[in-house]
Amino acid sequence: MGSMINAKCKCGYVKENMCLGGGMMNFTTECSFPYYCEDCNSLVEVNVYDANKKCPECNSNNLISYDDRKICKPKGREVFSWNVSDEIGKELTLSEGDYLCPDCGKFNLRFEHYGCWD
Ligand SMILES: [Zn+2]
Ligand SMILES: [Zn+2]
Repeated sequence: MGSMINAKCKCGYVKENMCLGGGMMNFTTECSFPYYCEDCNSLVEVNVYDANKKCPECNSNNLISYDDRKICKPKGREVFSWNVSDEIGKELTLSEGDYLCPDCGKFNLRFEHYGCWD
């Protein structure tokens, strides 16, 4: 079962209804997680199992995972976690902390849990 996540920034940037994690049918081959594209400065959902990850907006592969400490300051409760340590060697998590906003470039972006899907 995956999670529905919204991302919101104080500057007004909103990205709603991201479906993260994997569903029952495809959990071994597909798991979405937010990435930051350095080329087009956008927040995009990418399949973490994809060996050749590309930005769906501009085809760049300059992607930074949103759990990378370069673009996140984790704190507070977890809003999302997905254990893929067997597949990629780590657990993917998002917390209530501060994340880099693709729009204003400040650490004002927050992820919030919205619901579940399967
Ligand atoms: Zn891009
Ligand atoms: Zn912003």
